[in-house]
Amino acid sequence: MNEPPPIRVVGARVHNLKNVSAEIPAGTLTVLSGVSGSGKSSLAFDTVHAEGQRRFLATASPKARAAIAKLDRPDVDAVENLPPVIAVGQSDPTAGPRTTLATLVGLHDLFRLLWAGAGVPHDPDTGDRLERHTVRQIVDRAFALPERTKLMILAPAGEATGDAADRSLYDAALKEGFVRCEVGDESFETAELAAGDASPTGPVHVVIDRAIVKPGAEDRVRESVDLAAARTGGAVALRIADADAPGGWRTERFRTRLIDPATGGERRPLTPQSFSFHSPRGACPACGGVGLADPEAKTARHRSSAPCPACDGERLNADSRAVRVDGLGIGEAGRLSVDAASERFAELAERVEAGDASLSAGGAGVAERLLPDVRSLLDGLRRVGLGYLGLDRRADTLSGGEYRRARLAGAVGERTTGACFVLDEPTVGLHPADADRLWDVLTDLRDAGNTVLLVEHDPDLIRRADRLIDLGPGAGADGGTVCDAGPPAEVVARGMSPTARALSAETLTPTKESGADADSWLTLTDARLNSLWGVTLRVPHGRLTAVTGVSGSGKSSLIAGLLAPAVRAALSPTASPPPTAFYGVLSGLEPIGRLAEVDQSRLGGSSRSCPATASGVWTEIRKLLARTRDARRLGFSASRFSPANRAGQCPDCRGRGFRTLKMDFLPASITVCPTCRGARFNPQTLAVRWKGRTAADLLALRAGEAAPLFTDVTPIARVLNTFVEVGLSYLPLGQPADTLSGGESQRVRLAAALADPGATPTLFLLDEPTAGLHPLDVAPLTDLLARLVERGHTVLCVEHDLDLIVRCDHVVELGPGAGPAGGDLVAEGSPREIAQRETPTGRALARRFAAAGR
Ligand SMILES: [Zn+2]
Ligand SMILES: [Zn+2]
Repeated sequence: MNEPPPIRVVGARVHNLKNVSAEIPAGTLTVLSGVSGSGKSSLAFDTVHAEGQRRFLATASPKARAAIAKLDRPDVDAVENLPPVIAVGQSDPTAGPRTTLATLVGLHDLFRLLWAGAGVPHDPDTGDRLERHTVRQIVDRAFALPERTKLMILAPAGEATGDAADRSLYDAALKEGFVRCEVGDESFETAELAAGDASPTGPVHVVIDRAIVKPGAEDRVRESVDLAAARTGGAVALRIADADAPGGWRTERFRTRLIDPATGGERRPLTPQSFSFHSPRGACPACGGVGLADPEAKTARHRSSAPCPACDGERLNADSRAVRVDGLGIGEAGRLSVDAASERFAELAERVEAGDASLSAGGAGVAERLLPDVRSLLDGLRRVGLGYLGLDRRADTLSGGEYRRARLAGAVGERTTGACFVLDEPTVGLHPADADRLWDVLTDLRDAGNTVLLVEHDPDLIRRADRLIDLGPGAGADGGTVCDAGPPAEVVARGMSPTARALSAETLTPTKESGADADSWLTLTDARLNSLWGVTLRVPHGRLTAVTGVSGSGKSSLIAGLLAPAVRAALSPTASPPPTAFYGVLSGLEPIGRLAEVDQSRLGGSSRSCPATASGVWTEIRKLLARTRDARRLGFSASRFSPANRAGQCPDCRGRGFRTLKMDFLPASITVCPTCRGARFNPQTLAVRWKGRTAADLLALRAGEAAPLFTDVTPIARVLNTFVEVGLSYLPLGQPADTLSGGESQRVRLAAALADPGATPTLFLLDEPTAGLHPLDVAPLTDLLARLVERGHTVLCVEHDLDLIVRCDHVVELGPGAGPAGGDLVAEGSPREIAQRETPTGRALARRFAAAGR
């Protein structure tokens, strides 16, 4: 068999890449590694994926081709043998509140097909099954009964209340020649009822005919069923002799037409649109398919609003919500967790196979066709470690790692083959115990005939890859070359590249032997938010603590959900504490004077935000610019040098330096402003120079280049030096904030918070500060955290990175599993103590210590 040729990148010069050439063998799993800013994303995303996207669009519609003309072509001589490229990267900021986990991975589309094809409509008010049958199906049902079975064909005729008004109903039946009626469970002569000799109460059925199941009787039964349906507008009942039933008879109900009570017209048959909240046929009329009580809230991301009272937040109209597949509504299915749904659909598949699932006529075939896909998608989500997530979880509330892993599961579920997948750090936020299953998913993707290109720092994943391309050696101008490439074991053995050095055991960061010998502890008792089972959290003052546990074990609920708001409320009279029902008491806060929370949310502010403005450095640099002779002569104050200042900014891009190009079929793309060429300021403002540099020149500097220029200006130097320590030396000071990864955003804020922590003893709460960091970058970060602790601050990180965990004084592990199987404190103590324990983190730490020979 012919081996497909390798993907060959020739002469890539995107960003800091220095004419890089690289070969990615087809059908392999290749890892791109290197310190932050070394150029690996530039090669993977901005070269390989950008070129793939450009070629895809070149074959697309004329409108798409017109759009490509505006897309910057990657600066590369050639990318040869490139198959279709699928990128699984950072979250898509354009995902609106309607995007949920189920829609993101394509599960909702399968649900729509399943419910439309196999679902049974029910009356939204009474819960009665509403299924349409043909007369033929009803007759077939009757003649499927054992021969000689007695049966009656009935026409439902309303409800008898026992008073005189009932008589008109009986009169009508009598005039049509029907001599018997059933009222409740009893049988009466119609004449007797019409005369008022008996006035029973209960549902009335006119007896159209009586029959015995035997060959030759079909025609007469068909006529009777037709007659019953014609008399009622579609409702027919069969009363069937059954020795086991109470009274010796049982009743089966059918409808040949489904009437919509709202319009009086016939209900339309179900289609997949009936279950789409984007379609007027499916959307809840009250909220327009958004699911929120206040439809205005749909524009404000992350804002919580009460669910729509009409649809209970399910977004669909009442009829669509009342359609059930084996008793399950599509809304209920959508609220299950991945784990629960996985179980439920496995049961359904068994019941379908056994023939006893409650499905529409012909629904079994539809279910048999769709269930394997539904189950394989759910299985994929579990294997990437997301079993604990609710299917209705809004995509814009997923963490970066969760989002990427969900997209990965969706891609695997689509059974793509022959493509090149480019993935950005799928292990972010993943406990080492979950990384094994993720690895299986990646190799499945490869074994299905795809080429997998992974930007990754996780040492375990790097070691297991088919091939490693290590970029570097440094960041920014010091990076951008291929330091080494080949099978990981060979690259490590040669020791020529930064990753090789990081992977050799000698560089294992020193571990503390002492543990948390603190005199005092901050304690939060009996935490019960979400899946937490009454956990008591103890954090030693003046020490470095890690809270860890497999994904979904309850770490965020404990730290971001309870500890942070409880501490904030205790320190500030204006903040409101979390409801006391969710925890016992917070004690031992006395030594703490301040709370600094640094999570991975995007840098706030306008589209003009950038690391310089978000960290406060720009405020200081503006003062320097305003103090120059030129500025004083022109009468420019410091505010003139803010990109937000009307007088100083470029009028075309309003100080952003770029323009956003929106296309329906693609995430928004960014191009440089043609007027200022990215400078953001107007020419008058740019006439002012500090030490020969304009405001634009200063914003274009990378943090590492800028730091030496400001050694004399303490407030600036402090922050810039901290940028370098947290691994951001490569980052341009003016990089637009919305192009930063979650990890980068967090480290910008970390640098601002850590640069000048002040004397007030502070509790730092950090959410995975190592996200996106190369192992070589983790050491300076932990040094920085250790210095904070030495100065009397208390630092708590939610963290999975073993290199950071071994440097902690105290480790708290939640688990043992995810969701309902998690939420307990399974271990606490020093890293050495945890390594003795049979817990997911204990085993991972023991392996790490063993690998380091200690
Ligand atoms: Zn609604
Ligand atoms: Zn401009």
